[in-house]
Amino acid sequence: MRRQSSRPSATGRFAPSPTGDLHFGSLLAAVASFLQARSCGGHWLVRIEDIDPPREVAGSARRILRDLQRFGMRPDLPVLFQSTRYAAYRAALGDLIDRGLAFQCGCSRADLPRSGVYPGTCRHGLPRGKRARTVRLRVPAQAVSFTDQVQGEVEENLEQTVGDFVLWRADDLPAYQLAVVVDDAYQQVTQVVRGADLLTSTARQIYLHRCLALPVPTYAHYPVVRGTDGQKLSKRLGSDPIASGEPARALEAALRFLGQCCPSGLDLDSLWRWAENNWRLSAVPREARTAVTPEPSESSKPFS
Ligand code: GLU
Repeated sequence: MRRQSSRPSATGRFAPSPTGDLHFGSLLAAVASFLQARSCGGHWLVRIEDIDPPREVAGSARRILRDLQRFGMRPDLPVLFQSTRYAAYRAALGDLIDRGLAFQCGCSRADLPRSGVYPGTCRHGLPRGKRARTVRLRVPAQAVSFTDQVQGEVEENLEQTVGDFVLWRADDLPAYQLAVVVDDAYQQVTQVVRGADLLTSTARQIYLHRCLALPVPTYAHYPVVRGTDGQKLSKRLGSDPIASGEPARALEAALRFLGQCCPSGLDLDSLWRWAENNWRLSAVPREARTAVTPEPSESSKPFS
């Protein structure tokens, strides 16, 4: 990948997994990260997190990139595909193992208690008769604290909430937590703006950044979107196909959801101009909200 020649003041990113098409929830991540980076005079990057082939939906990476373009969001550097980065993840893992920070674990999901908190079974070596399945990071007994730019002060004691967590999976794939940290550092990301469903991953990621002696970005988590039925919108459930709507109306709905009081009815270019001049992270609400997504109108031209 081409490296930036001069370092921008800030770098934000949108990092979708290609597990379905762009939907209202992921549009929010794209829009919020884009506007926050732009409002700081920074770069905005796109990273396709295609490291989980079993969950991947064929063609969705291409469609996500196409839809971003149709919304008028262009990354400042070529798109990074995580599937090209296995060597970097293995190197980081090797480093953690060599320094005794990560260890091989022989437990399967069925061996874990109901709470899902890893009880430390293989922390001090594989018990007799167990073979290595995963690699886990040893977590500290003290809390990890950080200030989320939307959610405020957050403190999490990883030992109590998750325990030593998986860095390398039993199917010989890197875990999301490892790949995201290695790549946020590789892409020199300084600000992470994403949905609050990932707030529970943030302490793990900050701790992992520290273990790898990598700079820690700032974090801002906008609230989770609920559909009108009260459920979280999820592209895996195939909900909310914004792709059939008009981009300007979907962008308007996204800005409103993010607490930005934008004028209604503007065309896409004027709406972006308004948004770039008026974006305020401090206006993003904290609480989970119901999405009022645009109804596809008779006249709206389908994307595909
Ligand atoms: N790839 C993750 C997802 O699509 C997001 C990762 C992140 O923003 O850190 O949910």
